[in-house]
Amino acid sequence: MKTSTVRADGRGSSIPEPEYQTLLGRVTDWVEGPGEAWAEEIEATGKVSGELWNQLRAEGFLSLAAPRDLGGAGLSFLQWMGLMEVFSRSHASVRMIVHVLNGTWRAMNPFADEVQRQKFIVPAVAGESVVAFTLTEPANGSGVDITSSVRRDGDTYYLTGSKHLITFGVRCDYWLLFARLEGSSGRDGTVALLVDRNTPGAEVEDTSRTMGVRGTDHASLRFTNAPVPVANRLGAEGEGLAVALGGFLTPSRISVAMSCVGLAQRAQQLAVAYAAGRTTFGKPLASRQAIAFTLAENAADIAAAKALTLTAAAAWQNADPDSTALSSMAKLTAVDMLGRVTDKALQVHGGIGYWQSQPIERVYRDARAQRFEEGTNEIQKSVIAKAILGGATG
Ligand SMILES: Cc1cc2nc3c(=O)[nH]c(=O)nc-3n(C[C@H](O)[C@H](O)[C@H](O)COP(=O)(O)OP(=O)(O)OC[C@H]3O[C@@H](n4cnc5c(N)ncnc54)[C@H](O)[C@@H]3O)c2cc1C
Repeated sequence: MKTSTVRADGRGSSIPEPEYQTLLGRVTDWVEGPGEAWAEEIEATGKVSGELWNQLRAEGFLSLAAPRDLGGAGLSFLQWMGLMEVFSRSHASVRMIVHVLNGTWRAMNPFADEVQRQKFIVPAVAGESVVAFTLTEPANGSGVDITSSVRRDGDTYYLTGSKHLITFGVRCDYWLLFARLEGSSGRDGTVALLVDRNTPGAEVEDTSRTMGVRGTDHASLRFTNAPVPVANRLGAEGEGLAVALGGFLTPSRISVAMSCVGLAQRAQQLAVAYAAGRTTFGKPLASRQAIAFTLAENAADIAAAKALTLTAAAAWQNADPDSTALSSMAKLTAVDMLGRVTDKALQVHGGIGYWQSQPIERVYRDARAQRFEEGTNEIQKSVIAKAILGGATG
């Protein structure tokens, strides 16, 4: 009997190259056409409208990365990264929607039973429900440090604690929330729960006013004895952090690295166009060696980060154990590259680049957010150092 080679994390599927190229062309056309118009609207209103969500869903852009048996397009991870590169040239909120909606199934699927798969994952892959990844806490570090806790009574957990900085935490349908059994410490007592957005005992504060990524909603959450059915727990008690940080984090970090590459490409496009169009002292800016060299440095910087990101993506796709460290190297390298490239791209614009009339102003602000997503540089360096040194640091 022929068995499927597609694993619960999606590795093993792909679509034929001609089909992929057509899809890539369609995504590129959308990003450069309707995507640019949406970017202007989001900046003007500070909101992502329901109409934009509907359009992304109707285009199929929320269901690209998952395997076909979950309702996705069944792309390989490298194919998916090719599309993320293009989506990331769009407004940061578009990138955020596409990245998150195409990503949360990866955390959930390896730990879900069939009932949970149909109830939570299939609607999320279809873009019909939004699941917000809910880990970060205001009073302690992310990971084993979390203190949000649950008390079990029969078939129900009662959740108490706080979370903050939660993307889509206001408008989501479920929070994929990480907590621990009351009284436990370390990894062992952690649990991953799908908490209904409308559960009693949950208070939601809209904290969406951020430096960049305008239009995406963010929430601070407080839970007081909020009931969560035990049936909404993914994996076993003790596997909460495995859901949050296990197989999900590596591909997600690579996706963020590719997001940095795409956004840097957009900054470079804007800088090149500006340098070609602006004349000072009788010559186009682009003809000045100082400006041309700046653009050349940016091009090399972007290409180097992209190459490392693709190396990490190929390693993860091939289940190479080095992919964890490579994902952190790619994210660290790409996010630092993005900082340099957007800074230089804004500088090429001169003072007008500081004005909101110029798209580079938004790109520069949006770039800064990437330093936090899927771990700061300090966390990436810790992961890389652990791979290099093993237990040698004690
Ligand atoms: C736009 C945006 C969206 C986000 N969306 C989400 C989301 O959807 N869900 C979610 O759960 N979180 C989300 N976050 C939170 C994000 O994951 C965290 O901000 C990030 O992981 C850093 O954690 P922290 O803010 O608690 O910083 P802290 O842990 O307080 O760290 C502060 C600084 O100290 C450094 N540091 C901390 N501990 C150590 C250590 N042990 N050794 C060395 N340095 C250390 C950090 O690197 C950082 O520079 C979002 C953040 C942003 C900016």
